[in-house]
Order: sequence, then structure tokens, then C-alpha cells
Amino acid sequence: MMVPLPRILAIDDTPANLFTLGAVLGAQFDLQIANSGAMGIAQAQESLPDLILLDVRMPEMDGYEVCRRLKADPITRDIPVLFVTAQCSSAEETLGLEAGAEDFITKPFSPSVLRARVLTHLTIKRQADRLRSMAFIDGLTGVANRRRLDEALEREWRACRRTRSPLTLAMIDIDYFKRFNDTYGHLAGDVCLKEVATALMGCMGRPHDLIARYGGEEFVCLLPATDLAGAKAKAEELRGAVQALGIRHAASDVAPVVTVSIGVTSVLPTAELTTERLLAVADDRLYTAKRNGRNRACCIDD
Ligand code: GH3
Ligand code: MG
Ligand code: MG
Repeated sequence: MMVPLPRILAIDDTPANLFTLGAVLGAQFDLQIANSGAMGIAQAQESLPDLILLDVRMPEMDGYEVCRRLKADPITRDIPVLFVTAQCSSAEETLGLEAGAEDFITKPFSPSVLRARVLTHLTIKRQADRLRSMAFIDGLTGVANRRRLDEALEREWRACRRTRSPLTLAMIDIDYFKRFNDTYGHLAGDVCLKEVATALMGCMGRPHDLIARYGGEEFVCLLPATDLAGAKAKAEELRGAVQALGIRHAASDVAPVVTVSIGVTSVLPTAELTTERLLAVADDRLYTAKRNGRNRACCIDD
């Protein structure tokens, strides 16, 4: 697999400065540029760079304010910010660090020192990302955990709102799982949960599609930019994939193998709707699917 170049966003109102940064970093990194604070923040939210190089003196919004806003937003706060500036008093450096920046590089800088500092901060970022991702994985099944789901849900909600595209959420629950544990034991139940999680994961096609363990024997599938027709097809695929595992479940009333019921909702995110509401609707429909006989998906209200 090709490893993409680390992405660096340079925010500076002076084209000559951006040109210099391009000459120093362009070959080694995927360098993106923005020539105002507002554009830089928008670009950072959109492309989630691995590191940001930020000018201090800019008209309208100065670098300190840009940095404070980046650090106040959960979407961008983990991106290291390095101020690159000719302002080199310790008072200004302090202001920059207090605004949440990781480092402060004064001009004129030596190209090799700049590259080395950038590489150092990229390494720290990568290590922090790895720790964070471990904190976001369900220990038993290896899929995303509830925390990760909450985070992804907020992010995708915003993204779908911005692009006016529908967001689909499916709540998936194993049928008669208590009886499965009672029949085969808790350890076999754990193995079953892992296999079900893997089968659900196998149905995820696009980079932003997500399977998360919501709790116990419940999973959530998040599908950005998917309408109800697409959601129905995906729910049927998920249901079929679990049944096709063929895990014996003699005590189930609905099939001789492990099955799931699914509640599906697909909405255009608006200011009035909330992610909590999305989860609640999916949950209601899950219970409709249970009431209507299990091993099925429900996509509309009763
Ligand atoms: P329904 O078809 O209505 O969903 O019935 P159910 O038995 O699946 O639902 P219920 O909520 O009554 O039971 C869920 C069971 O899931 C009970 C609990 O012991 C089991 N469970 C939850 N988490 C785990 C786990 O991590 N491992 C195992 N083995 N079992 C779990
Ligand atoms: Mg269940
Ligand atoms: Mg349950």
C-alpha cells in the first residue's frame, strides 16, 4: 500500500512566505496553503492536515486567534500548530504557546531545522494518534467503541449538514442472545460477538462507513451520504451477512442460526434534529423489527 505523504497546511497572508515554505517542504510533504485565518480554519476542518504552520500577523484574524479557534474545536484540536514568524520576542512566543501552539519557529529559519522540527511534531502526533485510536476500539470485538461512535456521529452529522446529504444510522441487535449464552456459555457468546462484528465490518465499503459496538450485543452502523434506499439495501446486506455465518443457535425461535434485527433511519441533518434523536429513532425501529418477528430490518415508523 502506498503511504500518503504527511499533509501540512500553511496559513500565511504573504504569498512570498508560502512560496518559501513550499520550496523547503514541498518535496517531502503534501503541502496545502491558505492565505487568511478564516480560510485556514475552514481548510483544516475539511482536510484534517497532520500539522499546521501558522503566521502570526495577518489582517482580520491574527494567528493567535486562529490557533485558539483550532484548539477549541474537537475536530481540529489534536493537529499540532507551529507558529512561523519574524516576531521573536519572548512575550509573543508566550502568547503563541498560550494560544495552544505546539512550537514557535522564528524567521529567518534554516530549512533543515524547520524540516527537523516538523518531523519531530509529526512523530509525536502519530504516536498520540495511535494511543487515541486504541482508546477508541472495543476490546472484545476490535470494532469501534461507543466513544468513537459518539465522535464519528458528531463529525459526520456536521459533514452531512454542510453538504446537505443524508446520514444513515442502523441499530443492530443480536436475536435471543441471552438464550445463546444460556445454551452455549458466555465464552461461546464472546466468540459469537467477535464473528458477528467481523461479518458486519466486512459489509463496510466506503472510508467513512463505520461499525461500532454500542453496548452488550448491540452494534451501530453509520453510513454518511446514504439515503433510505441505500440504507435498506445495506441493512439487508448486514442481516444476510450475519445469518450467512451459520453460527448454530438451537434456542432461537426465529432461525436455527444466529440472526440480527435492525432499526434503520436516514435523515438530512438540520439544526432542529439532533444526533440523540437519530439514535432514538433507530432504536424505536429496532424494537419494531423485534416485535415484527426478528431477523429483519425496519426502516419506517409503525
Ligand atoms: P432480543 O432478541 O430481544 O434482543 O433478546 P436478547 O436475549 O438478545 O436480549 P437481552 O437484552 O435480553 O439479552 C442480551 C444478552 O446479551 C444478555 C447479556 O448477557 C448478553 N451479553 C451482553 N454483552 C455480552 C458480552 O460481552 N458477552 C456475552 N457473551 N454476552 C453478552
Ligand atoms: Mg438481543
Ligand atoms: Mg440488546
